[in-house]
Amino acid sequence: MTLRILDGKQIADEIKAEVAREVKELIHQGTRPPQLTAVLVGENPASRVYVKNKGHTAEELGIESATIHLPETTPTELLLEEVRRLNRDDEVDGILVQLPLPRIINADQILDEIDVKKDVDGIHPANLGRLVLGQPCLEPCTPAGIIQILERSGIRIAGVRACVLGRSRIVGKPVAAMLLNRHATVTICHSKTPELASVTREADILIAAIGRPGFVTGDMIGPGATVIDVGINEISSQTDLARFFDGEELERRSVVVARKGRTLVGDVEWKSAIAVAGLITPVPGGVGLLTIAMLMKNVLEARKAKGR
Ligand code: NDP
Repeated sequence: MTLRILDGKQIADEIKAEVAREVKELIHQGTRPPQLTAVLVGENPASRVYVKNKGHTAEELGIESATIHLPETTPTELLLEEVRRLNRDDEVDGILVQLPLPRIINADQILDEIDVKKDVDGIHPANLGRLVLGQPCLEPCTPAGIIQILERSGIRIAGVRACVLGRSRIVGKPVAAMLLNRHATVTICHSKTPELASVTREADILIAAIGRPGFVTGDMIGPGATVIDVGINEISSQTDLARFFDGEELERRSVVVARKGRTLVGDVEWKSAIAVAGLITPVPGGVGLLTIAMLMKNVLEARKAKGR
């Protein structure tokens, strides 16, 4: 069985080009371009980078973007007010509240307050409810990106066994619903699942979204399975590097660690997984790139749904 390593950049670039074309067309027709407003609370360095990248990507595609940066000590009530103001603002098509929020804020209350039609992260209870029912909605970005990876790579979903590791609101539960809507037989695993490896090994499509570096090892993967690695974790020690990689990839990653002090890895142990899998998504260069592309698609859809 030959291994295919998925090129997430190629698929993300395709989707972004499609979005950019549609945005251009809207503007050509005299419609205001789509607008995305991100709300960032506090100084979490990863969140700052994510918000900055989303803003850059939006502008590349002709989507207007703005960021509202609030202090770490912002109380829930004040953030709710900000969200309500954005809900009322007709010039704003998409609202993105960057997660995680500081602990003093009630995140569920904030997400529930976002106008369903502006919920470009697709995680408002109404959008998630519609998703489960198979009704049109703004779909959560990472799960939608995973589906794009599978469909654009020609991986069959209907009738196959899919296993989703993780049951979070933003990845595990919605991607399981989307696979089920496409007629896969879906098993969802979590931290209380007994004999996990015996379940994961049965899967034709295995989706790992748990946030533990290298948790999924080659012996947990069925021969020829499609492995979608959602995890984003950092490793820096030589021992971890040698566990994940060998050969040229080990050399390349060692150079990255020497330069940056760390390298990104997924929830799948690369070295042992590629010996068994049929198709695998790399980290970085896989699902993460699709997440941003699908966010842009959602902003465009939110704009189109509004009309002129
Ligand atoms: P959460 O922490 O919200 O959820 C993790 C899930 O994994 C939980 O359901 C948990 O089970 C399960 N889990 C944890 N440990 C185990 C274990 N030992 N065995 C089985 N299941 C386990 O994570 P997210 O879904 O938010 O994110 C998962 C990963 O994906 C992270 O690395 C995150 O950084 C990354 N991510 C990447 C994105 C991208 O664009 N590529 C986007 C979003 C997330 P339980 O419910 O029982 O606690």
